[in-house]
Amino acid sequence: MMIDRRAALSLLGGAASFSIHPAFAQAMAADAGPTDPAKLNAPPVVDRGRLTRIADGVHVIADPRINLVPNIGIVEGSEAVLVIDTGLGPANGRTVLEAARAVAGNRRLILTLTHFHPEHGYGAQTFSGQAEIVYGEAQAAELKRKGEAYLAMFRTFGPAVAAALEGTAIVAPDRTFAGETVLDLGGRKAVLREMPAHTAGDQVVILPGERIVFCGDLVETRFFPIFPDEDAKGSRWIDVLAALEGIDAIRYVPGHGEIGGREIVAAVRTYLERVRLEVKRRIGGGADEELVDREVRPVIKAAYPNWDNDMWISFAIRVFHAEATGRPLKLPAFN
Ligand SMILES: [Zn+2]
Repeated sequence: MMIDRRAALSLLGGAASFSIHPAFAQAMAADAGPTDPAKLNAPPVVDRGRLTRIADGVHVIADPRINLVPNIGIVEGSEAVLVIDTGLGPANGRTVLEAARAVAGNRRLILTLTHFHPEHGYGAQTFSGQAEIVYGEAQAAELKRKGEAYLAMFRTFGPAVAAALEGTAIVAPDRTFAGETVLDLGGRKAVLREMPAHTAGDQVVILPGERIVFCGDLVETRFFPIFPDEDAKGSRWIDVLAALEGIDAIRYVPGHGEIGGREIVAAVRTYLERVRLEVKRRIGGGADEELVDREVRPVIKAAYPNWDNDMWISFAIRVFHAEATGRPLKLPAFN
């Protein structure tokens, strides 16, 4: 595949030297269309071959735009190496642990998760005893509260997902923090900051020196954002994204989809603002919830023809409807 080096340079914020994975180049095509559903729903297997260096000492195992395969970060310091997310289930966890070990050599490992969702964190057991596991307090509490229910739910998502979850055990962190903690990896700092909106316990990882932010599912590139349960908050999410845009950063690693600049954060924020506006307008016009959903869905889908997983539009509509009316939230069936 041909890669336009100039386009790559601008995408990656003008870094002087880098390696770039074809997946990122693919995302640069302005006409990138929706993903072939067969590819989107391929087995959720993390591919170590997609390990890509995005800055000095900063690597991502890039999401191939397969559902339930996240972007996974590996951040090097002279003393320690930080792993961000594990993939779905113990086999993917082992793949990520091996990739991290290959990068880290004898340096100690730290694992953190962007949030508790299974495709981000249910490989954590393979890191037990191999890495110090650090989560935000809210994330640890949410994992404890919902972990088993999400495991049971994900096992119903078809044979490939069930196979990936084979033998999954939910493990508690070794250490938690409230609000924010700064990890000194040795010559490189990583700021872990709680910013809940997609879940009750989202946390981002900020590398101030490199001006990189790992966003978890607060940002997904060209995927409709996911509102899986009542802890996903509409207007709070908009505020959190505005705060992410306010960080002095040049590169944002989304939970899923292609890495980009501030524009990938703004794209999710303006999507949520658009849904909120369309919903409010129709409530003002006297439409009931079902009518609002029926009317807004096609408008939004037409406005985002290149985004994947349009089943989540209706979830966003319901969340903003409940928010605007104060009525109880009624989410559609999960799958
Ligand atoms: Zn998620």
